[in-house]
Amino acid sequence: MLKTYRRKAIDLAQLSGIRHYHDLKTLPAPKILKQRLDEYIIGQEKPKKILSVGVYNHYLKIKDREDKIQQLIQLDLLKARYQNELDKLSIAKERAKYDFSANDSDGAEPISQPTSTQEFEIGLKSMKTRILSEEQKLASANFDLQLGKSNIMLIGPSGSGKTMLTSTMAKNLHVPISISDCTQLTQAGYTGDDVHEVIKRLLINSNYNKDLSEKGIVVLDEVDKLAKSKSKGSGGKDVSGEGVQQSLLKLLEGHQVEFFLDRPVDPKEADRQLRKTGVHSPMTMREHYSINTENILFILSGAFVGLDKIVYKRVNPHLSQKEFENVKNYEYIISADGKTKVPTLSLAQPEDLVVFGLIPEMIGRVPIVTALEPLQESDLYDILSKPKNSFVKQYEYIFQKIGITLRFSRKALKKISKWALTNKTGARGLKSILERVLLECNYDCPESGVRYILITEKNVNHIIKESGHLLDIGDCEPIKYYSRAEKDFFRIAAANEDPQLEKELDVLFNTTPTHK
Ligand code: ADP
Repeated sequence: MLKTYRRKAIDLAQLSGIRHYHDLKTLPAPKILKQRLDEYIIGQEKPKKILSVGVYNHYLKIKDREDKIQQLIQLDLLKARYQNELDKLSIAKERAKYDFSANDSDGAEPISQPTSTQEFEIGLKSMKTRILSEEQKLASANFDLQLGKSNIMLIGPSGSGKTMLTSTMAKNLHVPISISDCTQLTQAGYTGDDVHEVIKRLLINSNYNKDLSEKGIVVLDEVDKLAKSKSKGSGGKDVSGEGVQQSLLKLLEGHQVEFFLDRPVDPKEADRQLRKTGVHSPMTMREHYSINTENILFILSGAFVGLDKIVYKRVNPHLSQKEFENVKNYEYIISADGKTKVPTLSLAQPEDLVVFGLIPEMIGRVPIVTALEPLQESDLYDILSKPKNSFVKQYEYIFQKIGITLRFSRKALKKISKWALTNKTGARGLKSILERVLLECNYDCPESGVRYILITEKNVNHIIKESGHLLDIGDCEPIKYYSRAEKDFFRIAAANEDPQLEKELDVLFNTTPTHK
């Protein structure tokens, strides 16, 4: 019976490409995974929860397979040790018999069976009991139950944090990740990146470690751009859309991908070879790889512009065509009493993606769908300063490195968030705005006498005005610099603009408040 299990374990191991056992014992629970995402990502509560659960279940499945294989290996080792002990016992018994008969012929006192062989037998008995219990455990482990794979689809506008969610998750789990843009992919045989490129990238990001790459995460961004073209009869072949979706099917499901890749030669190894043979070895070595995608988690993402209309129509089947066309905003679905407002995309189902133009076979392989919400002004404000590696913390750190205390007032951050919202570039726009706000400071301050910079609302207004933006702005003022001797002026300016900031500066400078 065990032979069957063992064969199954070998099949499983080959299927999943597991040769070495990476530490999945410490797989964090979904709650912990989400908490770690919370440290970096603002809002997006539901996608964070769904992603944490999806990722946890995926790695639990891999862990389950590894545990089963480990159990079989342990059992094999135990049986080998048992057999070894059994052989030792029979040799000891033979020897005892020989000694016994030798003593007998001498006419000496007969010797009873040596206590050592009795101890042997007791040890063997307990080993046998362990083997039986392990066998029973394995018999109850369901080897035939193959846990299905659940790839994940993240829908959300550009700059809403899709890439950040996935890369933060990969970092938390210490698994490699590759992020590829689907618009670069083409069907095999055409110019452009073959779909196998995404696996090559993952292998490179795993430092050419096959086993590690086989447990990695592949992000396929802009997957919405692969939607089937709605205009029929164009005649030409659909090189980058539906064809690519077809090519991706096997990867998503679990497929053995074969390719050659130039692997950089370890400089130490090259040096050793040079000293040994006197010949320079090449900088790269062409190697053949065979990667199994069975345990790779695929996370697909895209903005899916227009999907809200499709979902809106499905959720409101009673609307006539005219009523549907007259709807002013498809982004939210408002209840009949007007009390609840739900983002339409949060109700997206796999079937909506099929209507959008993704092929059903592909959607069938991506059963978890979740939508990120468009970021509001308050989210953008929080993104600026709250996450562990927030933009503001990053800039403050950079300036601190050149001996300057840089601080933004809360009013200034609010104005920046408002500006980013009108630009409609999501959180990505925040960084370029901060770059613009700090351009002059970045230019003027290094290696100067400047020690303190405070960015106020008026300063942001000044930059908005200069950039020719039509945002409704108030008073403007260029950014002021403060020298070491002007520390108190800096503190007073901060206190006038933002009392909370004044308190923070008091803690920083270990001083008492400037005024009450
Ligand atoms: P997407 O992949 O949806 O286009 P990104 O994940 O690349 O967006 O987001 C761009 C940048 O904006 C990120 O690097 C991150 O700094 C910031 N960002 C976006 N959304 C969030 C969020 N919800 N919380 C914190 N930062 C965010």
